[in-house]
Amino acid sequence: MATFFQSVRQGFGRGGNNKNNNPPKSPAQPPASQGHQSNMSNSPSLSNSLSIDNLANDPEGPKYFFQEKYAPLNVRGNFLTLCACPKNVELGEWLAHQIVEQYRLLHGMLQVIQEVNSVNGHSICNETTCPTMSAGRLTYTWLVDGRAAKISAPKFINRVEKWIVSKIHDPVMFPTEKVSGTPETSAVKEANGTPTTPSDPANPASDDWIGKTSGFPQTFYKDCQGIMKQMFRCYAHLYHAHWLNPFWHINKHDVLNMCFVHFVTVSKYYQLVSDKEMEPMQPLIDLFIKQQRVPPEALNGGHWAQAQQAST
Ligand SMILES: [Zn+2]
Repeated sequence: MATFFQSVRQGFGRGGNNKNNNPPKSPAQPPASQGHQSNMSNSPSLSNSLSIDNLANDPEGPKYFFQEKYAPLNVRGNFLTLCACPKNVELGEWLAHQIVEQYRLLHGMLQVIQEVNSVNGHSICNETTCPTMSAGRLTYTWLVDGRAAKISAPKFINRVEKWIVSKIHDPVMFPTEKVSGTPETSAVKEANGTPTTPSDPANPASDDWIGKTSGFPQTFYKDCQGIMKQMFRCYAHLYHAHWLNPFWHINKHDVLNMCFVHFVTVSKYYQLVSDKEMEPMQPLIDLFIKQQRVPPEALNGGHWAQAQQAST
């Protein structure tokens, strides 16, 4: 029984304690407009579900958040100890816990752009400011009736959040009671049809997989990857469209960085988000790696390399 995760899920969804996060009274000065640099790769071939949109959110605007002087972090060291799986906890349960925690952190940041202005009745991220779910020149699309559709960022984010919450509460994907047998889903059939190697966490051997002993389905790890990918896209939009307004203006850009560096550490350590997917944020990720805010242990094999090292 996934007892560890059960205890985590019981605490989930009772938050709402971020409602009274009033912005600091004296907002920081916006960064000077000179001396910026744009390192963002345009990534036209990122994936089929992505397309380039030249119009959204002034994609050629300066990317302050990629500059070291605008990337402070109010934490010492890094998030390795919060990220590494304790010896007595099964990896599947630990990943489920990490997913819930990452969603909690992201949700707190999304609430900042979802807060409705009492004067004009609009949220900061709305249909007018963000008609597409963009990250610089990149636009993420949503599958509608089998077709990739450009929907507004607030709609996209709303759908992602509902989808993630439904996944977290799905008793098949995140069981709190051990299930017998393998759940009949198309994704499982897919997984069974592909050749597997035990060393590849994304393709577990058909008789063994991450989370099996705790009752998680065979698709569990791939589902975790899917959830983290959508969470990454939300972060990419937060930075590219809303770093200046509101995060810099209300002096919360350091909190955004803290959440994001934690997210990147977990993503890299458990290989949950591909390097290609992360390209829109690569300059900042490179900066965090250089500063060892993303610990070296999270790179080059992460959890599996660490486990191998410990056993030899
Ligand atoms: Zn937006």
